[in-house]
Amino acid sequence: MRIVACVAGLHNLWLVLLAAGVCVMGSWVGLELYRRSRERQDRQRLGWIVLASIATGSAVWCTHFIAMLAYEPGVPVTFDPSLTFASLMIMIMGAAAAYALGQGPQRLAGYAGGALLGASVAAMHYTGMLAYHVDGIITWDAAYVAASVTMAAVFAALALEATGRARPLVPLALFVLAVVSLHFTGITAVTVTPFVTGYELANPQALAAMAVAIAGVAMLIVGTGVASYLIDSDASERNLDALRHMALNDSLTGLPNRTSFNSFLNHKLERARIDGYKVAVIGIDLDKFKEINDIRGHDAGDQALRAIGERLKALRKDGEFVARMGGDEFAAVKRFQEQRDLIDFLSRVETELFKPLRIDEAEVQTGASIGVSVCPDDGDTAARLIGNADLAMYRAKADLTRSVCFYESDMDELVRARRDLAADLRRAIELDQLELHFQPQSSVSDRKIVGHEVLLRWKHPGRGYVPPAEFIPLAEETGIIIPIGEWVLREACKEAASWKCDDKIAVNLSAVQLTQVDLPKTILAILMETGLPPRRLELEITESSIIQDKVRSLQSLRQIRALGVSIAIDDFGTGYSSLETLRSFPFDRIKLDRSFMNEVEHSVQARAIIRAVLALGRSLDISVLAEGVESELQLQILEDEGCHEAQGYHLGRPTPVAQVRQPEEPEAKVA
Ligand code: C2E
Ligand code: MG
Ligand code: MG
Repeated sequence: MRIVACVAGLHNLWLVLLAAGVCVMGSWVGLELYRRSRERQDRQRLGWIVLASIATGSAVWCTHFIAMLAYEPGVPVTFDPSLTFASLMIMIMGAAAAYALGQGPQRLAGYAGGALLGASVAAMHYTGMLAYHVDGIITWDAAYVAASVTMAAVFAALALEATGRARPLVPLALFVLAVVSLHFTGITAVTVTPFVTGYELANPQALAAMAVAIAGVAMLIVGTGVASYLIDSDASERNLDALRHMALNDSLTGLPNRTSFNSFLNHKLERARIDGYKVAVIGIDLDKFKEINDIRGHDAGDQALRAIGERLKALRKDGEFVARMGGDEFAAVKRFQEQRDLIDFLSRVETELFKPLRIDEAEVQTGASIGVSVCPDDGDTAARLIGNADLAMYRAKADLTRSVCFYESDMDELVRARRDLAADLRRAIELDQLELHFQPQSSVSDRKIVGHEVLLRWKHPGRGYVPPAEFIPLAEETGIIIPIGEWVLREACKEAASWKCDDKIAVNLSAVQLTQVDLPKTILAILMETGLPPRRLELEITESSIIQDKVRSLQSLRQIRALGVSIAIDDFGTGYSSLETLRSFPFDRIKLDRSFMNEVEHSVQARAIIRAVLALGRSLDISVLAEGVESELQLQILEDEGCHEAQGYHLGRPTPVAQVRQPEEPEAKVA
């Protein structure tokens, strides 16, 4: 009651309200800054502690000072400047020490820091009181003093401990309570018995003006703290946004990445379970992207991906999601009810992907293989739907007439069959199911055999002969081609070395083998082991297999050629047929693809191409062998055009036993 009477009776209530305003604002900002200091480390933390203690300290001190000015003891009042200043310093330093103490990880640190803060408020208050001179006798009530200090310490301890843990209003209320209770209990502890001196009382208006000025300064300081806080929040928000963006988006195209895709898909699948919508998962693999990368360079590849990313971004409508999964793979999710909505989306995607791209002033035609699986028909988990969309996509890739394929359950069957075949192929060597056939390569003018192409055959116990066109790609995909290729090479060399004549053998080399760094070493070892002179071995490679990793392939080829082995470029005229390839490596032979032979009898163009390739061979000093000669007429045409060597059913089919020349002993071993 005495406190209430003191506040109500002896104070200018307007100034009390102003003090309260300063106190609330300042404490709120001070505690927020302190909270920020706890979220930071090292120098940043120190900076925030300094800001927090200046804001808190000056606000609390101003509160105290304005409240002192609001006190109307009824006698003239003066202030001791040094003690007044000391009280401000005590408050700021005390707050700094308290906030530093409060950084500890345990709750006790918060309590200890808070108690110190409360004690600093008390020290500031009573130093300020010492600076306060009145003409009269001041008496102190020790009980009130003790109560005021205790209340300040306890409330401030609770406040600081709660900062950052409880809702912001709780520590604020506690701290304001600490300041207010200290001040007014402290003031109540004082009784002034005035001397009757006859001096004039200080001008109350001047005091009020001073109080307002102090409040203004306090608000400036607090405002600086607020500004720093906001700038920091904004910057860290932006940093956080940037990090979040980086984690969820692909940096090249700006499309969402695989992580976003998965979480989006899972979210849509969950919703679909509730609202019965259908969800399509669409796997997209660009066609010919590798070519852009290989032929035009990685920059061009990046440009292409960026352009395609932009197009995919632009076509999205509500409920449609497109992500880049990596490399030249994209994926999309479409939520729909009517099948036609899905079809509409797919046709938009297809249109965009098949539009030509402009890269470095050149027009490039790309395309894509698109596979679609639909929830719930083709699965209801993300993993299953993605797997099935991939299966459909592979089918689209293999099918030259369609670029969009829907998942069909019999595809599963197909995949299983392929997997079984791969398992069988893996054991084909040890089970002795592989054999080599030899097809003669002959001179056009006198039909004499000059060499033999070695062609691999797989005799499957259940399926009979599996064509190489089926099992070679499978072997390449699964990596089984490495041991198989080595087996072919070894067996062929062994066989040829046993012949009495010195006919050449031509062995096909897969692109996968060409990527093996130790291929030249393997070849050398096989030559040494079998005793076949290197000049009798020719390796056939296709242009596409060099293009896959040009630098490494050419390096391997140079090393192999240095052994004395010759290198032929197979199936020339299909695929790239680039002069650049011919220029980049001194091939010993060009094998003209057999597709030209089919048409040469009727097609002027086919004949013109054969003529051109022959001319090319002559000027580059590379001999040309025509593949797939099936008739006498074809052979005649080749002779007319000046082609020296040929191979084909008309000259000899691939057979298990080479029809080798046997110059010395006719009965020599041939098989
Ligand atoms: P390739 O290297 O172009 O082999 C020539 C293919 O043309 C062989 O098919 C051969 O039987 C066929 N052929 C030869 N003359 C004629 C003809 O007059 N008319 C027609 N229509 N075809 C003819 P094959 O044996 O089925 O081999 C297909 C492909 O499989 C080969 O094409 C080659 O790329 C690959 N291949 C075969 N054996 C091996 C091997 O040991 N290793 C690797 N990596 N690939 C092999
Ligand atoms: Mg070949
Ligand atoms: Mg060929």
